[in-house]
Amino acid sequence: NFKKSLGQNFLTDINVLHNIVDAAEVSEDDDVIEVGPGIGALTEQLAKRAHQVMAFEIDERLIPVLRETLSLYDNIAIVQQDILKVDLEQQIKAHFDGKHHLKLVANLPYYITTPIIMHLLESGIHFDAIVVMMQKEVAQRLTAEPGTKDYGSLSIAVQYYTNAKIAFIVPKTVFVPQPKIDSAVVRLTPQKPIKQPQDEQAFMQLVKGSFAHRRKSLWNNLLGIYGKDPATKERLEKVLAQVGIEKSIRAERLTISQFIDLSNGLIENN
Ligand code: SAM
Repeated sequence: NFKKSLGQNFLTDINVLHNIVDAAEVSEDDDVIEVGPGIGALTEQLAKRAHQVMAFEIDERLIPVLRETLSLYDNIAIVQQDILKVDLEQQIKAHFDGKHHLKLVANLPYYITTPIIMHLLESGIHFDAIVVMMQKEVAQRLTAEPGTKDYGSLSIAVQYYTNAKIAFIVPKTVFVPQPKIDSAVVRLTPQKPIKQPQDEQAFMQLVKGSFAHRRKSLWNNLLGIYGKDPATKERLEKVLAQVGIEKSIRAERLTISQFIDLSNGLIENN
């Protein structure tokens, strides 16, 4: 009795569960947040190794099942909440002592992989590690390097906040029910950005707009964002020259650092 709409694909392979906990290097020093515990398979492995575990499950039908299955553990809090709506900071204060490292480990509901990750990264909460399973193709986009076909605004949004690496690939056969695609476990290690954009919103708008038409040059995408009037063109040309970026290049060639330079240059020359 699974709810497809909630992305319910449960893990059945104990080795994969162990590998996820290993990838997060969970220990007694860690308090761990889990998103979508489902029937509690990963939750149990986390509880064996962590100080405290807090798991957010949206599906009310699963709450009694979870309470029952995990009743032997006294370091698990099950919270029936939507991870995108809950006041996470307040829950952390209520359940954790603030003296442990904070990690997030989850087999994510795939219909909201990107919203959950961006929500966590933009929350301002400091995680020591975020280790999450997701669709393989999304994992490839999150971790893509400049100049590759998977590199885009999502890679930049995530890598602006974190060092993002695929830990391992998980075949679809270890889930019940079996999804159509393979999965991957990604480890995000939060880091201070190499450089600060003067205006984060303007920076992300530039990045999104630069990838709006992947086949077009950066230049043509910039005209799409900022307009084509002669004064704008002149300003864009001047800034590109200042930061040493060629007009004919495609956005997928630019590093995060170059996007930040470009964004800051546009603000300074406004
Ligand atoms: N962790 C379990 C496992 O590995 O077997 C289940 C993972 S399953 C892919 C995703 C889980 O997230 C489901 O139990 C689903 O009900 C739950 N879920 C879906 N949307 C959610 C949301 N917005 N907030 C919290 N949990 C959610």
